[in-house]
Amino acid sequence: MKTFDYQRANTIEAATRANGRFIAGGTNLLDLMKLQVETPERLVDISRLDLNTIEERDDGGLTIGALVPNSDLAADPRVVEKYEVLSRALLAGASGQLRNKASTGGNLLQRTRCYYFYDTASRCNKRQPGSGCDAVGGFNRILAVLGTSEQCIATHPSDMAVAMRALDAVIVTQKADGDKRRIPIHDFYRLPGETPQIETVLEAGELITHVELPSPPAGKQVYRKVRDRASYAFALVSVAGVVEVKNGVIASAALAFGGLGPMPWRNPAVEAAVVGRAPSTEAFEAAADALLADAKGYGSNDFKIPLVRRTLIATLRDLTA
Ligand SMILES: Cc1cc2nc3c(=O)[nH]c(=O)nc-3n(C[C@H](O)[C@H](O)[C@H](O)COP(=O)(O)OP(=O)(O)OC[C@H]3O[C@@H](n4cnc5c(N)ncnc54)[C@H](O)[C@@H]3O)c2cc1C
Ligand code: SF4
Repeated sequence: MKTFDYQRANTIEAATRANGRFIAGGTNLLDLMKLQVETPERLVDISRLDLNTIEERDDGGLTIGALVPNSDLAADPRVVEKYEVLSRALLAGASGQLRNKASTGGNLLQRTRCYYFYDTASRCNKRQPGSGCDAVGGFNRILAVLGTSEQCIATHPSDMAVAMRALDAVIVTQKADGDKRRIPIHDFYRLPGETPQIETVLEAGELITHVELPSPPAGKQVYRKVRDRASYAFALVSVAGVVEVKNGVIASAALAFGGLGPMPWRNPAVEAAVVGRAPSTEAFEAAADALLADAKGYGSNDFKIPLVRRTLIATLRDLTA
Protein backbone atom coordinates (compact mmCIF):
# COMPACT_ATOMS: atom_id res chain seq x y z
CA MET A 1 0.00 0.00 0.00
CA LYS A 2 1.26 3.48 -0.82
CA THR A 3 1.64 5.96 2.02
CA PHE A 4 -1.17 8.47 2.51
CA ASP A 5 -2.26 11.23 4.87
CA TYR A 6 -5.08 10.46 7.26
CA GLN A 7 -7.48 13.02 8.64
CA ARG A 8 -10.60 12.49 10.74
CA ALA A 9 -13.44 14.92 10.01
CA ASN A 10 -15.67 16.01 12.88
CA THR A 11 -18.14 18.03 10.82
CA ILE A 12 -19.65 17.75 7.36
CA GLU A 13 -18.08 21.10 6.43
CA ALA A 14 -14.63 19.94 7.52
CA ALA A 15 -15.03 16.72 5.51
CA THR A 16 -16.04 18.47 2.30
CA ARG A 17 -13.22 21.01 2.58
CA ALA A 18 -10.50 18.50 3.43
CA ASN A 19 -9.63 17.87 -0.22
CA GLY A 20 -9.23 14.12 0.17
CA ARG A 21 -10.90 10.79 -0.41
CA PHE A 22 -13.72 9.93 2.00
CA ILE A 23 -13.53 6.66 3.86
CA ALA A 24 -16.60 5.33 5.67
CA GLY A 25 -16.62 1.58 6.48
CA GLY A 26 -13.55 1.04 4.29
CA THR A 27 -14.75 -2.40 3.13
CA ASN A 28 -14.22 -1.55 -0.53
CA LEU A 29 -11.76 1.32 -0.54
CA LEU A 30 -9.15 -0.37 1.66
CA ASP A 31 -9.15 -3.51 -0.50
CA LEU A 32 -8.56 -1.34 -3.57
CA MET A 33 -5.76 0.57 -1.82
CA LYS A 34 -4.00 -2.64 -0.78
CA LEU A 35 -3.99 -3.70 -4.44
CA GLN A 36 -2.90 -0.19 -5.51
CA VAL A 37 -5.93 0.09 -7.74
CA GLU A 38 -6.76 3.22 -5.76
CA THR A 39 -3.94 5.38 -4.44
CA PRO A 40 -5.45 8.43 -2.70
CA GLU A 41 -2.96 10.84 -1.19
CA ARG A 42 -5.26 11.77 1.67
CA LEU A 43 -7.98 9.80 3.39
CA VAL A 44 -10.72 11.76 5.12
CA ASP A 45 -12.35 9.56 7.72
CA ILE A 46 -16.06 10.42 7.86
CA SER A 47 -17.07 7.54 10.10
CA ARG A 48 -17.60 9.75 13.18
CA LEU A 49 -19.93 12.25 11.47
CA ASP A 50 -23.41 12.52 12.87
CA LEU A 51 -25.04 10.80 9.89
CA ASN A 52 -26.11 7.48 11.32
CA THR A 53 -29.80 7.87 12.06
CA ILE A 54 -32.97 6.97 10.16
CA GLU A 55 -35.68 9.61 10.49
CA GLU A 56 -39.34 9.55 9.44
CA ARG A 57 -40.49 12.50 7.36
CA ASP A 58 -43.92 14.18 7.34
CA ASP A 59 -44.71 12.72 3.91
CA GLY A 60 -44.34 9.20 5.33
CA GLY A 61 -40.93 8.58 3.77
CA LEU A 62 -37.58 7.98 5.46
CA THR A 63 -34.36 9.97 5.54
CA ILE A 64 -31.39 7.64 5.98
CA GLY A 65 -28.03 8.99 7.14
CA ALA A 66 -25.14 8.13 4.82
CA LEU A 67 -23.33 6.35 7.65
CA VAL A 68 -26.17 4.04 8.67
CA PRO A 69 -24.62 0.56 8.45
CA ASN A 70 -26.22 -1.85 6.00
CA SER A 71 -27.13 -4.24 8.83
CA ASP A 72 -28.96 -1.51 10.81
CA LEU A 73 -30.84 -0.35 7.72
CA ALA A 74 -31.90 -3.91 6.87
CA ALA A 75 -33.14 -4.52 10.42
CA ASP A 76 -34.93 -1.22 10.99
CA PRO A 77 -38.59 -2.13 11.70
CA ARG A 78 -39.88 0.65 9.39
CA VAL A 79 -37.73 -0.66 6.54
CA VAL A 80 -38.68 -4.28 7.19
CA GLU A 81 -42.37 -3.42 7.25
CA LYS A 82 -42.70 -0.77 4.54
CA TYR A 83 -39.65 -1.17 2.30
CA GLU A 84 -39.26 -4.92 2.38
CA VAL A 85 -37.50 -4.96 -1.00
CA LEU A 86 -34.70 -2.83 0.46
CA SER A 87 -34.31 -4.92 3.58
CA ARG A 88 -34.17 -8.09 1.50
CA ALA A 89 -31.67 -6.64 -0.96
CA LEU A 90 -29.37 -5.58 1.86
CA LEU A 91 -29.55 -8.98 3.53
CA ALA A 92 -28.73 -10.63 0.18
CA GLY A 93 -25.43 -8.70 0.04
CA ALA A 94 -21.99 -9.57 1.41
CA SER A 95 -21.86 -11.14 4.91
CA GLY A 96 -23.10 -10.15 8.36
CA GLN A 97 -19.64 -8.94 9.34
CA LEU A 98 -19.28 -6.77 6.21
CA ARG A 99 -22.81 -5.39 6.53
CA ASN A 100 -21.96 -4.20 10.04
CA LYS A 101 -19.19 -2.00 8.60
CA ALA A 102 -20.58 -1.13 5.16
CA SER A 103 -22.31 2.26 5.09
CA THR A 104 -25.28 3.45 3.04
CA GLY A 105 -23.18 6.06 1.18
CA GLY A 106 -20.26 3.68 0.63
CA ASN A 107 -22.54 0.98 -0.72
CA LEU A 108 -23.87 3.34 -3.40
CA LEU A 109 -20.29 4.22 -4.42
CA GLN A 110 -18.63 0.80 -4.26
CA ARG A 111 -16.61 0.09 -7.41
CA THR A 112 -17.15 -2.66 -9.95
CA ARG A 113 -15.99 -6.23 -9.26
CA CYS A 114 -14.59 -6.64 -12.81
CA TYR A 115 -11.57 -8.95 -12.40
CA TYR A 116 -9.40 -6.82 -14.71
CA PHE A 117 -10.14 -3.67 -12.73
CA TYR A 118 -8.61 -5.36 -9.66
CA ASP A 119 -5.60 -6.72 -11.56
CA THR A 120 -3.10 -3.92 -12.15
CA ALA A 121 -1.28 -6.06 -14.75
CA SER A 122 -4.37 -5.88 -17.01
CA ARG A 123 -5.54 -3.12 -19.31
CA CYS A 124 -8.52 -1.28 -17.84
CA ASN A 125 -9.97 2.03 -19.02
CA LYS A 126 -11.73 2.55 -15.72
CA ARG A 127 -8.52 2.21 -13.68
CA GLN A 128 -6.23 3.78 -16.26
CA PRO A 129 -8.16 5.82 -18.86
CA GLY A 130 -7.07 5.11 -22.43
CA SER A 131 -5.24 1.87 -21.62
CA GLY A 132 -7.85 -0.45 -23.17
CA CYS A 133 -10.23 -3.05 -21.79
CA ASP A 134 -9.13 -6.65 -21.32
CA ALA A 135 -12.65 -7.70 -20.36
CA VAL A 136 -13.95 -7.29 -23.93
CA GLY A 137 -12.81 -10.53 -25.49
CA GLY A 138 -11.63 -11.79 -22.10
CA PHE A 139 -13.33 -13.58 -19.21
CA ASN A 140 -16.41 -11.42 -18.79
CA ARG A 141 -18.83 -13.83 -17.17
CA ILE A 142 -19.89 -11.40 -14.42
CA LEU A 143 -20.01 -8.30 -16.60
CA ALA A 144 -22.72 -6.23 -18.28
CA VAL A 145 -25.10 -6.87 -21.18
CA LEU A 146 -26.86 -3.49 -21.07
CA GLY A 147 -25.54 0.09 -21.13
CA THR A 148 -22.01 -0.92 -22.12
CA SER A 149 -19.57 0.95 -24.36
CA GLU A 150 -16.51 -0.17 -26.29
CA GLN A 151 -14.46 1.31 -23.46
CA CYS A 152 -16.05 -0.59 -20.56
CA ILE A 153 -18.53 -3.40 -19.90
CA ALA A 154 -18.39 -3.36 -16.09
CA THR A 155 -21.42 -3.82 -13.86
CA HIS A 156 -22.32 -1.93 -10.71
CA PRO A 157 -22.25 -4.57 -7.98
CA SER A 158 -24.60 -3.18 -5.30
CA ASP A 159 -27.76 -5.00 -4.23
CA MET A 160 -28.97 -2.11 -2.07
CA ALA A 161 -28.82 0.39 -4.93
CA VAL A 162 -31.05 -1.85 -7.10
CA ALA A 163 -33.80 -1.77 -4.47
CA MET A 164 -33.31 1.97 -4.03
CA ARG A 165 -33.72 2.44 -7.78
CA ALA A 166 -37.04 0.57 -7.68
CA LEU A 167 -38.08 2.78 -4.75
CA ASP A 168 -37.09 6.05 -6.51
CA ALA A 169 -34.63 7.06 -3.78
CA VAL A 170 -33.10 10.53 -3.77
CA ILE A 171 -29.45 11.06 -2.86
CA VAL A 172 -28.73 14.16 -0.80
CA THR A 173 -25.25 15.68 -0.96
CA GLN A 174 -23.25 18.62 0.29
CA LYS A 175 -20.41 20.29 -1.60
CA ALA A 176 -17.34 22.09 -0.30
CA ASP A 177 -19.01 25.50 -0.80
CA GLY A 178 -21.93 24.37 1.39
CA ASP A 179 -24.35 23.86 -1.53
CA LYS A 180 -26.69 20.92 -1.09
CA ARG A 181 -28.15 18.82 -3.87
CA ARG A 182 -31.01 16.32 -4.03
CA ILE A 183 -30.21 13.93 -6.87
CA PRO A 184 -32.82 11.34 -7.93
CA ILE A 185 -31.09 7.96 -8.13
CA HIS A 186 -31.99 7.70 -11.84
CA ASP A 187 -29.76 10.74 -12.46
CA PHE A 188 -26.98 9.75 -10.05
CA TYR A 189 -25.01 7.14 -12.04
CA ARG A 190 -23.43 7.68 -15.47
CA LEU A 191 -23.11 5.31 -18.39
CA PRO A 192 -19.45 4.50 -19.23
CA GLY A 193 -19.39 5.98 -22.76
CA GLU A 194 -15.92 7.34 -23.47
CA THR A 195 -15.18 8.03 -19.79
CA PRO A 196 -15.78 4.89 -17.73
CA GLN A 197 -13.64 6.27 -14.89
CA ILE A 198 -16.42 8.80 -14.13
CA GLU A 199 -19.18 6.75 -12.54
CA THR A 200 -21.53 9.29 -10.94
CA VAL A 201 -22.48 12.95 -11.19
CA LEU A 202 -20.75 13.73 -7.88
CA GLU A 203 -18.19 16.52 -7.96
CA ALA A 204 -14.81 16.43 -6.20
CA GLY A 205 -15.29 16.79 -2.45
CA GLU A 206 -19.07 16.30 -2.65
CA LEU A 207 -20.27 14.21 0.27
CA ILE A 208 -23.37 12.02 0.34
CA THR A 209 -25.11 13.03 3.56
CA HIS A 210 -28.44 11.20 3.29
CA VAL A 211 -30.64 9.03 1.13
CA GLU A 212 -34.35 9.84 1.05
CA LEU A 213 -36.98 7.21 0.39
CA PRO A 214 -40.37 8.49 -0.81
CA SER A 215 -43.48 7.34 1.06
CA PRO A 216 -43.85 3.55 0.90
CA PRO A 217 -45.21 2.28 -2.42
CA ALA A 218 -48.42 0.29 -2.68
CA GLY A 219 -48.25 -3.37 -3.63
CA LYS A 220 -46.07 -6.39 -3.05
CA GLN A 221 -42.27 -6.09 -2.88
CA VAL A 222 -39.73 -8.78 -3.87
CA TYR A 223 -35.95 -8.91 -4.28
CA ARG A 224 -34.66 -11.93 -6.18
CA LYS A 225 -30.91 -12.45 -6.54
CA VAL A 226 -29.29 -15.15 -8.66
CA ARG A 227 -25.66 -15.88 -7.79
CA ASP A 228 -23.05 -18.60 -7.86
CA ARG A 229 -23.31 -19.39 -4.13
CA ALA A 230 -26.22 -19.06 -1.74
CA SER A 231 -24.41 -16.40 0.28
CA TYR A 232 -21.38 -14.12 0.15
CA ALA A 233 -21.51 -13.69 -3.62
CA PHE A 234 -22.37 -10.79 -5.90
CA ALA A 235 -25.43 -10.97 -8.15
CA LEU A 236 -25.15 -12.53 -11.58
CA VAL A 237 -28.56 -10.98 -12.09
CA SER A 238 -31.06 -9.57 -9.63
CA VAL A 239 -34.54 -8.08 -9.79
CA ALA A 240 -36.10 -5.64 -7.33
CA GLY A 241 -39.82 -5.38 -7.90
CA VAL A 242 -42.79 -3.50 -6.46
CA VAL A 243 -46.08 -4.39 -8.11
CA GLU A 244 -49.67 -3.58 -7.22
CA VAL A 245 -52.53 -5.66 -8.63
CA LYS A 246 -56.06 -4.20 -8.45
CA ASN A 247 -59.18 -5.95 -9.71
CA GLY A 248 -57.09 -8.55 -11.49
CA VAL A 249 -55.03 -5.98 -13.40
CA ILE A 250 -51.47 -4.74 -12.75
CA ALA A 251 -52.09 -1.16 -11.57
CA SER A 252 -48.46 -0.12 -11.05
CA ALA A 253 -45.02 -1.65 -11.37
CA ALA A 254 -41.47 -0.60 -10.49
CA LEU A 255 -38.76 -3.01 -11.65
CA ALA A 256 -35.00 -2.52 -11.28
CA PHE A 257 -32.18 -4.89 -12.17
CA GLY A 258 -28.71 -5.70 -10.84
CA GLY A 259 -25.83 -7.49 -12.54
CA LEU A 260 -26.88 -6.33 -16.00
CA GLY A 261 -25.47 -2.83 -16.42
CA PRO A 262 -23.04 -0.19 -15.18
CA MET A 263 -25.72 1.15 -12.84
CA PRO A 264 -28.76 -0.26 -11.10
CA TRP A 265 -30.86 -0.65 -14.24
CA ARG A 266 -34.42 0.51 -14.81
CA ASN A 267 -36.27 0.95 -18.09
CA PRO A 268 -39.81 2.44 -18.13
CA ALA A 269 -40.66 0.29 -21.18
CA VAL A 270 -40.38 -2.84 -19.01
CA GLU A 271 -42.99 -1.53 -16.60
CA ALA A 272 -45.21 -0.19 -19.39
CA ALA A 273 -45.30 -3.72 -20.87
CA VAL A 274 -47.19 -5.05 -17.84
CA VAL A 275 -49.15 -2.12 -16.39
CA GLY A 276 -52.85 -2.24 -17.32
CA ARG A 277 -52.69 -5.93 -18.19
CA ALA A 278 -53.79 -8.99 -16.30
CA PRO A 279 -50.85 -10.99 -14.96
CA SER A 280 -49.99 -13.56 -17.63
CA THR A 281 -47.00 -15.26 -19.20
CA GLU A 282 -47.55 -13.16 -22.35
CA ALA A 283 -47.38 -9.90 -20.37
CA PHE A 284 -44.28 -11.07 -18.47
CA GLU A 285 -42.58 -12.15 -21.72
CA ALA A 286 -43.35 -8.70 -23.18
CA ALA A 287 -41.63 -7.10 -20.18
CA ALA A 288 -38.57 -9.30 -20.72
CA ASP A 289 -38.56 -8.43 -24.44
CA ALA A 290 -38.58 -4.72 -23.56
CA LEU A 291 -35.75 -5.17 -21.06
CA LEU A 292 -33.56 -7.14 -23.44
CA ALA A 293 -34.25 -5.29 -26.70
CA ASP A 294 -30.75 -3.74 -26.66
CA ALA A 295 -28.95 -6.48 -24.69
CA LYS A 296 -25.55 -7.55 -25.98
CA GLY A 297 -23.50 -10.46 -24.68
CA TYR A 298 -19.69 -10.53 -24.82
CA GLY A 299 -19.11 -14.29 -24.87
CA SER A 300 -18.83 -15.68 -21.38
CA ASN A 301 -21.68 -13.49 -20.12
CA ASP A 302 -24.15 -14.44 -22.90
CA PHE A 303 -25.94 -16.70 -20.41
CA LYS A 304 -27.18 -13.64 -18.50
CA ILE A 305 -29.67 -12.79 -21.24
CA PRO A 306 -31.82 -15.94 -20.91
CA LEU A 307 -31.11 -16.01 -17.17
CA VAL A 308 -32.57 -12.57 -16.51
CA ARG A 309 -35.58 -13.35 -18.72
CA ARG A 310 -36.39 -16.34 -16.52
CA THR A 311 -35.62 -14.41 -13.34
CA LEU A 312 -37.86 -11.50 -14.32
CA ILE A 313 -40.74 -13.81 -15.23
CA ALA A 314 -40.39 -15.75 -11.96
CA THR A 315 -40.27 -12.47 -10.00
CA LEU A 316 -43.36 -11.12 -11.75
CA ARG A 317 -45.21 -14.37 -11.02
CA ASP A 318 -44.25 -14.02 -7.38
CA LEU A 319 -45.24 -10.34 -7.27
CA THR A 320 -48.65 -10.95 -8.81
CA ALA A 321 -49.53 -14.28 -7.21
C1 LIG B 1 -16.11 -10.02 0.17
C2 LIG B 1 -17.13 -8.97 -0.14
C3 LIG B 1 -18.37 -9.36 -0.59
C4 LIG B 1 -19.33 -8.39 -0.88
N1 LIG B 1 -20.56 -8.78 -1.34
C5 LIG B 1 -21.49 -7.83 -1.68
C6 LIG B 1 -22.75 -8.18 -2.22
O1 LIG B 1 -23.07 -9.36 -2.40
N2 LIG B 1 -23.62 -7.19 -2.52
C7 LIG B 1 -23.31 -5.86 -2.33
O2 LIG B 1 -24.15 -5.00 -2.62
N3 LIG B 1 -22.12 -5.50 -1.84
C8 LIG B 1 -21.22 -6.45 -1.51
N4 LIG B 1 -20.00 -6.08 -1.02
C9 LIG B 1 -19.63 -4.66 -1.06
C10 LIG B 1 -19.98 -3.91 0.20
O3 LIG B 1 -21.39 -3.78 0.28
C11 LIG B 1 -19.31 -2.54 0.04
O4 LIG B 1 -17.91 -2.75 0.15
C12 LIG B 1 -19.78 -1.55 1.08
O5 LIG B 1 -21.15 -1.32 0.97
C13 LIG B 1 -19.02 -0.23 0.93
O6 LIG B 1 -19.36 0.61 2.02
P1 LIG B 1 -18.19 1.24 2.91
O7 LIG B 1 -18.86 2.15 3.88
O8 LIG B 1 -17.31 0.19 3.48
O9 LIG B 1 -17.46 2.08 1.79
P2 LIG B 1 -15.92 2.55 1.71
O10 LIG B 1 -15.07 1.38 1.30
O11 LIG B 1 -15.55 3.31 2.92
O12 LIG B 1 -16.04 3.58 0.50
C14 LIG B 1 -16.42 3.15 -0.79
C15 LIG B 1 -16.39 4.37 -1.72
O13 LIG B 1 -17.41 5.30 -1.36
C16 LIG B 1 -16.87 6.59 -1.07
N5 LIG B 1 -17.70 7.11 0.04
C17 LIG B 1 -18.04 6.44 1.16
N6 LIG B 1 -18.95 7.15 1.85
C18 LIG B 1 -19.18 8.29 1.15
C19 LIG B 1 -20.03 9.42 1.34
N7 LIG B 1 -20.84 9.53 2.39
N8 LIG B 1 -20.01 10.41 0.41
C20 LIG B 1 -19.20 10.33 -0.67
N9 LIG B 1 -18.37 9.29 -0.90
C21 LIG B 1 -18.37 8.27 0.00
C22 LIG B 1 -15.41 6.33 -0.71
O14 LIG B 1 -14.61 7.45 -0.98
C23 LIG B 1 -15.09 5.16 -1.63
O15 LIG B 1 -14.81 5.63 -2.92
C24 LIG B 1 -19.03 -7.02 -0.70
C25 LIG B 1 -17.77 -6.63 -0.21
C26 LIG B 1 -16.82 -7.59 0.06
C27 LIG B 1 -15.48 -7.14 0.55
S1 SF4 C 1 -14.87 -3.74 -18.23
FE1 SF4 C 1 -14.41 -1.72 -17.43
S2 SF4 C 1 -13.59 -2.19 -15.41
FE2 SF4 C 1 -13.43 -4.08 -16.58
S3 SF4 C 1 -11.42 -4.07 -17.62
FE3 SF4 C 1 -12.86 -3.13 -19.01
S4 SF4 C 1 -12.64 -0.96 -18.58
FE4 SF4 C 1 -11.86 -2.02 -16.81
